[in-house]
Amino acid sequence: DTFEDLFARFDNIPKQLEENLKLLKFEFPTPVQKFAVIAGLAGRDVMCCAQTGSGKTAAYLIPMLASMMKNHRATGALKEPFEGPCEPDTLILAPTRELALQIYDDALRFCYGTEYRVIRVYGQEKRENQIRDFCKGADICVATPGRFADFVEAEIISVKKTYCLVLDEADRMMDLGFEETIRELVEKRGMPTNTERQTMMFSATFPAVIQQTAENYLHNHLFVRV
Ligand code: AMP
Repeated sequence: DTFEDLFARFDNIPKQLEENLKLLKFEFPTPVQKFAVIAGLAGRDVMCCAQTGSGKTAAYLIPMLASMMKNHRATGALKEPFEGPCEPDTLILAPTRELALQIYDDALRFCYGTEYRVIRVYGQEKRENQIRDFCKGADICVATPGRFADFVEAEIISVKKTYCLVLDEADRMMDLGFEETIRELVEKRGMPTNTERQTMMFSATFPAVIQQTAENYLHNHLFVRV
């Protein structure tokens, strides 16, 4: 099956997203993509066991961006001048700056030719340099948790309209002291609840303890392991 075959089963695939996959020469979904993309496009929460190199980034970007492009107007298309805070529709959290950067690059490629704006937020970079990026607003934010939480605290970014949440390398995100930061973001900052938003988690390993913690963020999720 090709992506084209897979998409034929859904009526919510934006043309530009399909075009961009073709430009990137993504013709056949990887095994992880086959299951996670179908579950995601059907609107389900997903917990997915996937190694780096398995195509996990596209496995969540495709359904998340399809949903965003159908339901959320691009910030770049707004006529009136943007007034903060940034209210991203889609938030992708990753444990390291390197991973966040890779995801950011992929998200840019997938949004090519649209007016959706992608921003990146991570530590070890001057806050001021990043804030300059936010003044036009954002639809997708790729971030590490600590710095992202700082900006939310400062009311520069808001999660009140974040209807899509992705945790990449979720095993590290549910550990390492990150979990507290993430829990506060999700529970105390006005993010749509787990029944209102769509949540996808990807991880190379899902030990039982981590699975239990992760379930607090999910609603009626599918577990994908290939
Ligand atoms: P990831 O596991 O997300 O880091 O992806 C690993 C690499 O495979 C990246 O360079 C992707 O661009 C590429 N890739 C992912 N999915 C596909 C696909 N369906 N067809 C071709 N290349 C892909």
